[in-house]
Amino acid sequence: MRQLIAGNWKMNCLSAEAVALAKDVAAGAGDIQAELLVCPVALHVAAVAQALKGSTVAVGGQDCHQEAKGAHTGDIAAPMLADVGAAWVILGHSERRQNHGETDELVREKCLAAAAAGLTPIVCVGETEEQRVGGQETEVVGWQISGSLPKPFNGVIAYEPLWAIGTGRTATEQDVANMHAFIREELVRQFGEAGRGIRILYGGSVRPANAPGLLAVPEVAGALVGGASLNAADFLAIARAARSV
Ligand code: PEP
Repeated sequence: MRQLIAGNWKMNCLSAEAVALAKDVAAGAGDIQAELLVCPVALHVAAVAQALKGSTVAVGGQDCHQEAKGAHTGDIAAPMLADVGAAWVILGHSERRQNHGETDELVREKCLAAAAAGLTPIVCVGETEEQRVGGQETEVVGWQISGSLPKPFNGVIAYEPLWAIGTGRTATEQDVANMHAFIREELVRQFGEAGRGIRILYGGSVRPANAPGLLAVPEVAGALVGGASLNAADFLAIARAARSV
């Protein structure tokens, strides 16, 4: 299976910038073996999907509501993302968990809504610095996995230690290897054989310079990239470091 390199553009880019960035990624994607995905702000998913038509780059949202429609001012439903061209959706990102109080239970409901709409969820898990210093990182991630993933789960997990997101600090390859091995064990414990097939991405300050090392770690099936995904050349350089897993 090819590694997945997913760009989380977060709350960046005006519409013309988003379309230009998408086109730059698509233009350089021809020789790339990895599976490529970009996740613009929901408002630009339609325009970015249009710009990427005929390319190998997929589009996703950064969040969705747990209901398919209704009285939820300001929210975006999974079928709406799918309707305008999204195939994926990031769920339970730490910025959603921290800034919007999203719980594991809510993320689980959102996964179900995404699946019902035909979207593949990328569910983010990861510990804070305090939890890591306190030696609780595996316990925290284990709980997040059991609480956030519905059964069955047809999606991808992104391990994103909070202290590595947007900080320029990356987990060491050994930290990543240990946590990904733990997540795999946990998936097999919770999902049986099906747990072996769930892809686990790493996210947290992935850059062209550290991508080859991180993407070579066992059980790393790709990367979720924030800051570096806003520069097409950097994003493509990361994708060039991908391998088959
Ligand atoms: C993210 O927020 O998903 C992320 C990985 O960000 P960054 O690459 O900027 O650390």
